[in-house]
Amino acid sequence: MKSRRRPYSEQRPIDVGGGVWSVPVPIPGNPLGYTLVYAIESPAGPVLVDAGWNHPEAWLALRDGLAAVGMDVREVRGVVVTHFHPDHAGLAGQVREESGAWVAMHEADAALVKLMWSFGEGAQRDLQADMLRRAGAAKVEVEEVTAERPRPPAPPDRTLHDGDLVDLPGRALRAIWTPGHTPGHICLHLEDTGRLFTGDHVLPAITPHIGLYPYDRSDVDPLSDFLDSLAKVADLGELEALPAHEWIFQDTAARATEIRTHHEEKLVRLTALLAEAGEPLTIWETAGRMSWNRPWEELPAMLRGMAAGEAAAHLRTLEVRGVIRRVPGVDPVHYALHS
Ligand SMILES: [Zn+2]
Repeated sequence: MKSRRRPYSEQRPIDVGGGVWSVPVPIPGNPLGYTLVYAIESPAGPVLVDAGWNHPEAWLALRDGLAAVGMDVREVRGVVVTHFHPDHAGLAGQVREESGAWVAMHEADAALVKLMWSFGEGAQRDLQADMLRRAGAAKVEVEEVTAERPRPPAPPDRTLHDGDLVDLPGRALRAIWTPGHTPGHICLHLEDTGRLFTGDHVLPAITPHIGLYPYDRSDVDPLSDFLDSLAKVADLGELEALPAHEWIFQDTAARATEIRTHHEEKLVRLTALLAEAGEPLTIWETAGRMSWNRPWEELPAMLRGMAAGEAAAHLRTLEVRGVIRRVPGVDPVHYALHS
């Protein structure tokens, strides 16, 4: 199963049956390669699940890919976005301009998009720089991470809540709120065919990024949310997964359980790491001692920033579970085992 990774150049739009088509849309310059945009047929025009990265090449792939399966982008009725990230929501605005389609996302992600537009470019950079500094990043790392920021996606016209049916006449497509990867991530259950559009929540071989931003906040716990959302999806039973990356696979429940185990094991290793350190660590120091897909020293600044977010999310869950604590009165924040 893990050998099914193929580059974008080998991807084609395909009829996946049951009135659903998958259209690969490239993510230029990104190792993920492509987003799988799904088009669901309805008597009132197709509805898309996600839209792809906002880039001229991606736009052509979406438009031509839909045409290849007999659909006209100008007839798209709506775009339901699994979450606000640029490789999913990026092109939704352009589809809306071409077709007059509605764009829908969960209210929690819609609120984030609104917040992004309300900040000026400079204010966003200052906030990010401050967050990095408080996590213990070096000055040069702060400068590198904040250098490049993508444009926020187009604001949606409609917001969805857990359990809502998407406006797709003649079919039953239900929003399942699965916070974790983002606060408003949704999976979409196509109840008339027993399939689940999983977005980034459940992918066949990789796991989505679960980060805490700002790194030291103490009002949320996205990893626990994610673990709960995996249990929620597993409770839906054995469904065919139509994910936004990689490939279609069987049995969402089994994969969701496997991903939960992966994070629980990571929490155990992180606890051991803090015990071995024998002294309180900053979030940045913790991230530097965790294992990533390449050595910390070789990670580019942008990926270090994400790794620190992932470390912070795991630290926060351990804190909520009462395993570790923040050392009071120290800046930047240091974590230590509960004695
Ligand atoms: Zn994502």
